Amino acid sequence: MLLIMHPNIDEKSEAFQQTWTYLTTLPNIRVQKHIVEGKAQRLMEIYLIGNTAKIDKEIIEILPGVERVVRISEEYRILGKHKDERRTIGFDYNGIRFDQDNLHIFAGLCAVDNRENVEAMMKALAVQGQPCTRMGAYKPRTNPYSFQGHGKGCLPYTFELAGKYGIKVIAMEVTHEDHVEEIDACLEKTGRPTGVMLQIGTRNTQNFELLKAIGRQTKYPVLLKRGYGISLTESLNAAEYLASEGNANVVFCLRGMHSSFGAPHRNLVDFAQIPVVKRLTRMPVGIDPSHAVGSRDLSPEGILDLFHAAAQGVIAGANLILVDFHPEPLKALVDGPQALRLEELPLFLEDVQIAREAYEKRRRLARPPLS
Ligand code: PEP
Ligand code: MN
Repeated sequence: MLLIMHPNIDEKSEAFQQTWTYLTTLPNIRVQKHIVEGKAQRLMEIYLIGNTAKIDKEIIEILPGVERVVRISEEYRILGKHKDERRTIGFDYNGIRFDQDNLHIFAGLCAVDNRENVEAMMKALAVQGQPCTRMGAYKPRTNPYSFQGHGKGCLPYTFELAGKYGIKVIAMEVTHEDHVEEIDACLEKTGRPTGVMLQIGTRNTQNFELLKAIGRQTKYPVLLKRGYGISLTESLNAAEYLASEGNANVVFCLRGMHSSFGAPHRNLVDFAQIPVVKRLTRMPVGIDPSHAVGSRDLSPEGILDLFHAAAQGVIAGANLILVDFHPEPLKALVDGPQALRLEELPLFLEDVQIAREAYEKRRRLARPPLS
């Protein structure tokens, strides 16, 4: 059962205290509070978890401070879309709105290799007015002898440069909860020149302890990759793990499935599931064409497969694109073969814009405005 409290309710108020005392004394029911920070107001949702069938909805509705009560029994209790509900979709972070309607591009380095390349990347983004990027510091690698990322050593210059070039959000993978502390400490030390969206990689989608630890903090939103060898339902449940611990600011990112049927692509592109995730959940949905396609192969009409895959995602309503770029792909320490070159950035953005306009036209066609 979900209780939506009056906007901006004060937790010290008598109304709140009375309601909270009543709820927390309900037998065998776990009570969980979620705060949704919006631009104009602060919303509080309270979840009653357990066997709520015997709880009288009307009694809950008249508790002071309660605006509405929604019965939810389906999967994805917090992140799901349920019948008759009007909960907000998406979240704001560091001045940027993430929801199921808009689109943000996170072009950047798969792995930070040196200061010069971070600066070249961010400068190119600034020229294009792009406020988001991706920068890998902690790289989970298949081979233990491969470059594992510079870790916390590269954070100070990465954050400083982000501030210099007006980058608001960096998607950065973490593979251990200690990494969040390292990121937080470094952001604090450098004066918070930018923001970080914590990325959970496809290999960690079912690392439940990591999910729980990341879910317990709400300072940083999360970009969760779909698990490459598990069902969509299992991956959506992984997202729900984050929310169940308290962090519902999650972007769900499709990145292709591990399958020999995807060959010659690195993975089998799964972007047709964008509308499915939007229908089932309130999460913005991202795509990662780089890790899905995995190469710079060119189609006969002269368009890179990477561009095609990105466009397919955008035309299906993607809300975020995570895409690898590198000033010198041949010298990249990780995933060079799939990296786009910096001089291809304007072209990529324009191609995405074409697909986005087509998506918007398709929306209008499906639902013409009321005259
Ligand atoms: C990445 O985005 O750098 C990455 C490793 O992706 P994935 O977890 O999808 O393989
Ligand atoms: Mn990579």
